[in-house]
Amino acid sequence: MKYVDEFRDGVLARGLARAIAAEVRPDRRYNFMEFCGGHTHAILRYGVLDLLPENVRMIHGPGCPVCVLPIGRIDLAIRLALTHGVTLCTYADTLRVPASGGMSLMRARARGGDIRMVYAVTDALKIAREHPHKQVVFFAIGFETTTPPTAVAIRQARDEGLRNFCVLCCHVLTPPAIMSILESPKVRAVGSVPLDGFIGPAHVSTVIGSRPYEFLAKEYRKPVVIAGFEPLDVMQAILMLTRQVNDGRAEVENEFTRAVTPEGNAKAQALIAEVFELRRSFEWRGLGEVPYSALKIRPAYAEFDAERRFDLDYTPVPDNKACECGAILRGVKRPTDCKLFGTVCNPETPMGSCMVSSEGACAAHYTYGCNRDVEAAA
Ligand code: SF4
Repeated sequence: MKYVDEFRDGVLARGLARAIAAEVRPDRRYNFMEFCGGHTHAILRYGVLDLLPENVRMIHGPGCPVCVLPIGRIDLAIRLALTHGVTLCTYADTLRVPASGGMSLMRARARGGDIRMVYAVTDALKIAREHPHKQVVFFAIGFETTTPPTAVAIRQARDEGLRNFCVLCCHVLTPPAIMSILESPKVRAVGSVPLDGFIGPAHVSTVIGSRPYEFLAKEYRKPVVIAGFEPLDVMQAILMLTRQVNDGRAEVENEFTRAVTPEGNAKAQALIAEVFELRRSFEWRGLGEVPYSALKIRPAYAEFDAERRFDLDYTPVPDNKACECGAILRGVKRPTDCKLFGTVCNPETPMGSCMVSSEGACAAHYTYGCNRDVEAAA
């Protein structure tokens, strides 16, 4: 197949649905987690759940970069804008994530903070060049996919001698998060859903390749199938996972061969390694502190590190008690389990991070409806 609409073909989708139905055994349940918000969005937008047998359940994972940002990190960005008076640049969805005290970056902007929505880190560099008297901070979020452009921007700022530009680095890593889900006592607790396998990320895997998932298959005996973000990609991955489970195999398979190789993108990896190093620990919304699951800026580029430049200390902040985002991101609850879903919490007035981005499980459920999930929960 060559064009994107071919990966959305209804006839082919129904053919895959029949193949999955023929493969699943009636005497067992299949619980697969799609790690990425992009997959969650595709599954709900294209009605993939309606094409699956009743005993195949998809569980949403924590792979939405906006969703996993803890409140304390948003608070840091707000502090930079309101207390330190910087020009803070970030992606649109980040502006709407609830912070502590009823704040958000959007509300901080209403209070006079110079907070700007950008499409790419290069926009932040441009603002820094055009306003040399201002301190410009790029609030960098995202998984391995968005990390290389941040690395390029930091190198570019160094090469240009752009001293009024720096980065609040909140880039996170996928494999340690999957490991954390498998290790979490809350996930392994009696009554929680046993996971039979994972749909591995698409874009992240174009950077890191398929090899970093192999320990999940070897040490945790969990199959992983890396898949593209189109509905036929997802359905093919579900078929491949089902076959692995039926055969008693736990392997890393790659459905997204048109973009992902075992080694990934060596150039991007080298860039990341040059500019960033592992953080000893990082707080994720829902997962808590996860060891070696995020990146910080290396000492060689310290002058571009906003945490150092502004002497920022991180303070964890508990989530809103009524919001179930944490449990949803761990895969132990569904959006419809939350009492606030669709009432006081909706995409216009999000109470938690999962209702902000279109990749967030709550926002995707709200936008596309998902009666199948509600029925399965009953
Ligand atoms: S519906 Fe809103 S409050 Fe409930 S878990 Fe989702 S984001 Fe949080």
